[in-house]
Amino acid sequence: MTDTDVVIVGNGPIGATLSVLLAQRGWRVTVLERRPRPYRLPRATSFDGETARLLAATGIGPDLGRITAPANGYQWQTADGQTLLDIAFTTEGPYGWPDANTMHQPALEELVAARVADLPGITVLRGHEVVAIADGEHVQVTAVDADDVSRTLSARWVVGCDGANSFVREHLDVPVTDLGFSYEWLLCDVQLTEPREFVPTNVQICDPARPTTLVGSGPGRRRWEFMRLPGENAAELNTAETAWRLLAPFGVTPGTATLLRSTTYIFQARWADRWRVGHVLLAGDAAHLMPPFAGQGMCSGIRDVTNLAWKLDLTLRGLAPESLLDSYGHERREQAREAILASVQLGRVICVTDPAAAAERDATVLANRRGKPAGRPEPAKPLAGGLLHESPGAGVVVPQGRVCAGGTTGLFDDVVGRGFVLLTTEESPSDFLAELGTHVVRLDGSLDIENVYRPFLARFGAASALVRPDYHVFGTASRGDLPTLADALRTSLRTPVPTP
Ligand SMILES: Cc1cc2nc3c(=O)[nH]c(=O)nc-3n(C[C@H](O)[C@H](O)[C@H](O)COP(=O)(O)OP(=O)(O)OC[C@H]3O[C@@H](n4cnc5c(N)ncnc54)[C@H](O)[C@@H]3O)c2cc1C
Repeated sequence: MTDTDVVIVGNGPIGATLSVLLAQRGWRVTVLERRPRPYRLPRATSFDGETARLLAATGIGPDLGRITAPANGYQWQTADGQTLLDIAFTTEGPYGWPDANTMHQPALEELVAARVADLPGITVLRGHEVVAIADGEHVQVTAVDADDVSRTLSARWVVGCDGANSFVREHLDVPVTDLGFSYEWLLCDVQLTEPREFVPTNVQICDPARPTTLVGSGPGRRRWEFMRLPGENAAELNTAETAWRLLAPFGVTPGTATLLRSTTYIFQARWADRWRVGHVLLAGDAAHLMPPFAGQGMCSGIRDVTNLAWKLDLTLRGLAPESLLDSYGHERREQAREAILASVQLGRVICVTDPAAAAERDATVLANRRGKPAGRPEPAKPLAGGLLHESPGAGVVVPQGRVCAGGTTGLFDDVVGRGFVLLTTEESPSDFLAELGTHVVRLDGSLDIENVYRPFLARFGAASALVRPDYHVFGTASRGDLPTLADALRTSLRTPVPTP
């Protein structure tokens, strides 16, 4: 017996989300957080539609609209206002949520905290800094409180969600790949006195004289970010006077806005090369750090814990061996690495301060895009490998439409339920799928009212698709091949293929 099933180190957005995902599945979770009170300062300003769907799985879906404002688009502009890149966002994205949701991070964390408080399985110990971990048959985690009193808890698993300077990662002594990308920016969060419309919501001004970002950050709030120029004094940049001076050309003055805070951040790009050692795992910023140009840092962490929660659940239930957890790091590290590389690539284009290089960039991009309409955001990244059945569509994220079943109409995840899902046009005979609690969905016209799921199957020439609890397709089957697909899942879960 252990004191708790899972210890989570760190009660940031990622640790808190994981605690809910595990407690909803019936597990006892203890969260150890060194800060005595919640962190009230804003960092992330947006999350994408796929992440909105993942956050909704914690039960906060009905409240998300209250703390978010959808973004209408994202543009990159030259210093003289020509459009380099144009992405149009819709409020009805492919995952059932707006493509881009702007927010104030503390407001999101408050929503998750309220959900944590509702769940009896979660104990949050604030003012507890984890200082030691000993892995054996069980893991012993030692934390000290503000009075220097130490306390040791035993758990079956420990997850380090303890942020960029992770103690857990240091303790595991895992190698870290650092791309050496490092730029400092001044961030100014403001509350506007009068409502003002910004079209598009999010803009990158690729001005070599001062690369600048303008983004929405939830109802009534916006953020301006200004890059520190080579040779510029960081201390002088990091003052309220400088913030107001840089904001003034945008009509943002003490008369039109309140400066909630201004501070500099150094953006970095790195990831841990291993995410599991024994019974200890890493997630969120502890596992990866990226510049915010694609708004993917927190989103990646939410994807981590969505991937991890169902695998921990199966392992704790004895339905899969511990080695299933190796596929977590294997799958997520690759996806996070891609997000980091993409963010760095954007950063290298944005953070240009040499006027000649900027002029060359502008000329090339403008020549390429001339006359092209605004693009759409890229679809959610499929899994490149891992716990998948080799078949068309394996690894792809299943879209979400509105459906109607049993007299209820709503988003698929709410109406049908979350967990393993079998989308099929034929009978499903598998006991194993029933043992996993799989939601079997016979697709017919009355359910699929937006005609999302049948075209999805048709895209892969499939009669059935078996979807994992993290919404990635495990595999598809043609008519008559469903038993083979169910068998493949059983084999994958019971004897996972070793992953590096
Ligand atoms: C300027 C900026 C803009 C960003 N914009 C976006 C964006 O638009 N979209 C997006 O998706 N992401 C964005 N991000 C990234 C996002 O903010 C982070 O990825 C996210 O906050 C990470 O959450 P986390 O829970 O992993 O870590 P954290 O929020 O850092 O939480 C870690 C927690 O662990 C606790 N802790 C640390 N050590 C210990 C210990 N030894 N014992 C106990 N507790 C401990 C800490 O006190 C902290 O509460 C941005 C980040 C920055 C800095």
